[in-house]
Amino acid sequence: MKGKAYFGPAGNPIGFNGPTVEVCDYIRSIGLDAYEYQATYGVRIKKQSALELKNNAQKNEVMISMHAPYYINLSSPKEDVLERSIERLVQSARAAKWMGAYRIVFHPGFYTSYSPEEALKRCKNTIEALLEKLDGLGVDKFTFAPETTGKRSQLGSLDEIIDICQSFEHFQPTVDFAHVHARNQGCLKDEDDYHRIFTKLEDGLGIKTLHSHFTKIEYTEAGERRHHVLMEEKYGPPLEPLLEAITECGWLVTVICETPFLEKDALIMKSMYDALI
Ligand SMILES: [Zn+2]
Repeated sequence: MKGKAYFGPAGNPIGFNGPTVEVCDYIRSIGLDAYEYQATYGVRIKKQSALELKNNAQKNEVMISMHAPYYINLSSPKEDVLERSIERLVQSARAAKWMGAYRIVFHPGFYTSYSPEEALKRCKNTIEALLEKLDGLGVDKFTFAPETTGKRSQLGSLDEIIDICQSFEHFQPTVDFAHVHARNQGCLKDEDDYHRIFTKLEDGLGIKTLHSHFTKIEYTEAGERRHHVLMEEKYGPPLEPLLEAITECGWLVTVICETPFLEKDALIMKSMYDALI
């Protein structure tokens, strides 16, 4: 089976100054086909705008995803933090439905004083409460996409993300390749390293569709430190072997560009990919 990749920016393109509801006109006009709406500091979009954004994305055949607020910690020791986290994900699920977002990306939480096993269990208990709440509110048709995280203090290794997605319906992974690379001290070096991730996802979840993030990343022993643009060659992970792995594995992969150059680097990614197929 032949794969396909979609590329687009995390948030509004640098070269775009218009209203967000028309952002997909711009994304299509420059030759990209994905967009991740950023609700990172709170879900503020109104229903009417979200519906307009959906129409604009459909008209332009742009894949829309949504990044939920950063202030989410589903494994917090504090009950009020858990409640607020659930509330933010409920708001995200509603807005995602209006805008037609196929994934709701979020960072699951922190280990704090818990062991990784305890934190994961706590996270899953909170997800159960979240799903009950959504069910009670009649919110359906959402896909939460917990993301592999970049700091070693954060819940979100690839294994933990797969475990969470195995445990619940409506959950699919987001693989941030730079985060995987940073939390494992530069583990992604060649195509085989990427193929191993695809194989693990396929074995664990039976999927052939993936939502992903990519940037060049600087890290310390604690993991992620800073995002860098594609041209900064001293930082990994390497892009070309990832694109090669995507062309060979036959998956549908959306690659959201999280470098500081957003759409400019997304276009470079796309042109490199197009040269391989
Ligand atoms: Zn990311």
